[in-house]
Amino acid sequence: MTHAADAHARHTGRLYGVGVGPGDPELMTVKARRIIERAPVIAYPGAAHGSSIARSVADPYLGADKIEVGLRYPVTTGTIEHPGGYEAALAEFYDDCAAQLAVHLDAGRDVAVLCEGDPFLYGSYMYLHDRLAGRYPTEVIPGVASFSAAAAASGTPLVRRDDVLTILPGTLSPDVLAARLRTSDAAVVMKLGRTFPAVREATERAGLLHRGVYVERASFEGQRVVPMADVNGTVPYMSLVLVPAERWPRRPAPDGAARGLVSVVGLGPAGPDWLTPEAHAELAGADVLVGYETYLRRVPQRHGQRRLVFDNRSELDRATQALRLAAAGERVAVVSSGDPGVFAMAAAVLEAVETAEKAAGTAREAAGTAREAAGTAREAAGTAREAAGTAREAAGTAREAAGTAEEAAVTEVEIRVVPGLSAMQAAAARVGAPLGHDFCVISLSDQLKDLATIERRLDAAASADLVVALYNPASRTRRAALQRGLEVLRRHRAPETPVIVARAVGCTEEAITVTTLADVQTAVVDMRTLMIVGSSQTRILPSGNGRPRVYTPRSYPSYE
Ligand code: SAH
Repeated sequence: MTHAADAHARHTGRLYGVGVGPGDPELMTVKARRIIERAPVIAYPGAAHGSSIARSVADPYLGADKIEVGLRYPVTTGTIEHPGGYEAALAEFYDDCAAQLAVHLDAGRDVAVLCEGDPFLYGSYMYLHDRLAGRYPTEVIPGVASFSAAAAASGTPLVRRDDVLTILPGTLSPDVLAARLRTSDAAVVMKLGRTFPAVREATERAGLLHRGVYVERASFEGQRVVPMADVNGTVPYMSLVLVPAERWPRRPAPDGAARGLVSVVGLGPAGPDWLTPEAHAELAGADVLVGYETYLRRVPQRHGQRRLVFDNRSELDRATQALRLAAAGERVAVVSSGDPGVFAMAAAVLEAVETAEKAAGTAREAAGTAREAAGTAREAAGTAREAAGTAREAAGTAREAAGTAEEAAVTEVEIRVVPGLSAMQAAAARVGAPLGHDFCVISLSDQLKDLATIERRLDAAASADLVVALYNPASRTRRAALQRGLEVLRRHRAPETPVIVARAVGCTEEAITVTTLADVQTAVVDMRTLMIVGSSQTRILPSGNGRPRVYTPRSYPSYE
């Protein structure tokens, strides 16, 4: 309470925002009941035609001697005649309501505004609070929220341990809803009614329809609890949807099938802000996470989820292990930094699939040969020794067949690539728009290709006047490609060509330098660095606030 409000308090009534709970009068707090019984003025919002839900909940506690103030909403579905549209009509409505209540408060009468559920959770009381709480002593009595009652009514535990619960209004667009649902462990969608078909669509798109529980009139007479998937069309306003967090260990998929899946998930260049909702959902839904330990450290631990941690050198190994786990029915997420398709694990996984396909073919052939050999031996089997040979051959056949089955299972695994923001995009964004026109991306690592190839490509890119983004520019021991690369670029480009050296973009140690081809210092360049070398058109803008801005114009001068 402010001092002004305090001084005023001696002469005026008190304003109460009273949460009456979800419907069952027994779910009202003792305090709410006491205030309702004592306050001489009871106000409640309600539709223009029809009764107030909050009032009917409080009815058992209202004596005959109350002054009742019904606050009737302007029509919400019909045409609005107000020149400012619906928003303005509503603002005017609340101004009127506040003025009506102020008359009682000024006369020293306490006013209890009844709110269904909790007053500060999508309650219209808030608009009166905004207008009156600064002027009168005010107290808000929390109430049992409708979603708590719905969870209780349906026997749906919502969140455990580190699970995050998201409360969403169904009035959001299906796109936003689907994205929010994907990044939530558990969710509540309120404000249904006409919005239900869109909410249902969004839930289905987020892959969560089977988990949704629809609850209508929780704790009221006529309460209904049904699987969300069984509800279609519009629903009454007094309803909501619960999407509880998944229990671990996970129950089998609804169709009962064990579905092996490898998703190769891009984590973005750094931090959760650069992780897409899709990637978040994919990580959350995995049974096993597979990856390089530096990247796995960026994924929050989830109770019950296993991790297979590798060092940085074993990409194909990582991919093969992931495929084997998936072939055994697990949902496996292989993590990559940035985008998984840019110098990263997506290609490694597909390479492992190709290898497995070839191996399965070879094993099938070998099994055929062994079967023939066993046949030959059987024909010749006249003696005990030959009979033993037959048995050995048959065992070999069985082993080969088992090998074939394993490789074949690996080739059946579903592969999903989940894109991420690549480091060059993050680095470019930090300085402006250096990739605004044609550009190319080259890795300077000579582990998977030789130095001559790197030089040849840089030469071609530079002579085509492309902006060049350089990944894996140098490690502690591997510096030659960077030196030679810069020499090649200098042959084609002016010394004042802009160069961006971006280290650890998005991390606390982030360091970004804008320099030129003549001045670039390579000592700081390491494996956490990405470089962008401009084209002949790339320019550095003089900047007022100390941060240079670099851009490559979208148009290119034509050849004459
Ligand atoms: N798939 C990744 C690239 C993997 S190659 C992506 O799309 O970003 C690894 C190289 O990416 C690093 O050597 C470095 O050049 C670059 N890189 C990745 N994250 C970076 C970051 N946060 N800041 C600067 N460069 C980064």
